[in-house]
Amino acid sequence: MLTKGEDNHMGKVAIYPGSFDPLTYGHIDIVERALEIFDKVILAIANNSEKSSLFTIEERLEMAKTIFQDTPNVIVDCFKGLLVDYVAKTNAKVILRGLRATSDFEYEFHMASMNRSLNPQLDTLFMMTSKDYFFVSSRTIKEVAGLGGSVDGLVPDLVVRRLKEKFKLPVTKKKQIGWDD
Ligand code: ADP
Repeated sequence: MLTKGEDNHMGKVAIYPGSFDPLTYGHIDIVERALEIFDKVILAIANNSEKSSLFTIEERLEMAKTIFQDTPNVIVDCFKGLLVDYVAKTNAKVILRGLRATSDFEYEFHMASMNRSLNPQLDTLFMMTSKDYFFVSSRTIKEVAGLGGSVDGLVPDLVVRRLKEKFKLPVTKKKQIGWDD
């Protein structure tokens, strides 16, 4: 757990919360663009036992920490419970979220409004997805990978390997999904 004292000197800090089950290039793109605006981004992985995940919190942490190991301005952490309580323990004033389609909007709007009602000091900043990743979600990545389809180029190589291990697929296998599969 990251405490307030640890990021006192960090300047502008944003918290990017999510399930990251698993991390995709869509997420990474948001982090990279946010680093143009913020001095630090805390990628906060929700450890939510009610939401069933493919990867355990430890696996998600390990993947994200490895992927961002050479990016010192990104801190990978996890949290349990209310996001606003977690944010209060850091110096972040901004929650960062990504938006892909109008279908994301309603849920995100409710969450941002609820979080602002819980803590009026806290704002949520939305970044639009990039054209290359508007169709990328952790859910579809899991679906495609689980059926043996290639997700190369949509998630980091480490995630490709971990998905294959999870679904017990040969690590070298590359298969495109066709209509008659
Ligand atoms: P959650 O379960 O909290 O929605 P996700 O890991 O699915 O967590 O997503 C975290 C955030 O990243 C959300 O705001 C989501 O809209 C955003 N996001 C996910 N995929 C993309 C993408 N391809 N482009 C932009 N934003 C994305």
